Amino acid sequence: MQVESTLFFETPEEIYARVFRVVNPRTIPPEIHVEFRRFANANSSIRLENGRIAVKITDLLAVAPAPILEALAYILLSKLYRKPIPQNFNHQYRLYLNRKDVRTSLHSLRLNRGRKFLSGAQGQCFNLDHLFEELNAKHFFGLMARPELGWSRRPSRTMLGHYDPSHHVIILSSILDRPAVPRLAVEYVMFHEMLHLKHPVDHRGVRRCVHTPEFRASEKKFPGFAEAKLLLKHL
Ligand SMILES: [Zn+2]
Repeated sequence: MQVESTLFFETPEEIYARVFRVVNPRTIPPEIHVEFRRFANANSSIRLENGRIAVKITDLLAVAPAPILEALAYILLSKLYRKPIPQNFNHQYRLYLNRKDVRTSLHSLRLNRGRKFLSGAQGQCFNLDHLFEELNAKHFFGLMARPELGWSRRPSRTMLGHYDPSHHVIILSSILDRPAVPRLAVEYVMFHEMLHLKHPVDHRGVRRCVHTPEFRASEKKFPGFAEAKLLLKHL
């Protein structure tokens, strides 16, 4: 006689309820709702609202194997309840995101969904095209192809510059586009982002190293490096 085998699939909600019991052994899991969303990145979020846990996961992970979803459940629930994130799950999840095929789909996701706001290079005080070409001539033998350049919509203090390889765009924070900001400070931020074009991101296993030792060494060659860093600190 053949025993009827039951293939047992856990729904994402069941995975979260099970992991919840490990993270919070003496608590009854609340209602949990898991939703895959069309994000333009690999972000996921968890929130406790009205006694209900709401999890939003990028649909990039909708095809991920169950152990990866489980690893993410450990990460998110540990974060929510301020418990240390188990290293093995963290590692497993990062490894997955760093897989070549996953990185490739993340890249095309960003391309297709990421909305890029571009203000144009001319700001109130600085022209990014001019700045770029000056630095290009001075430090890169004029050999660097100019990406699209623009100012951020919101004047961010925490993200002064950003290079987006998917769109080949450098965005500088509009907080820098003010008369009170010395040109040297803006030059330095642009120079930093230009180095991201020169030194592509290094993917080594788990770690995604954006500022490699070579990157840091080139950065220090910027004339007025220390002064510029100090200026930005007092911004
Ligand atoms: Zn950087």
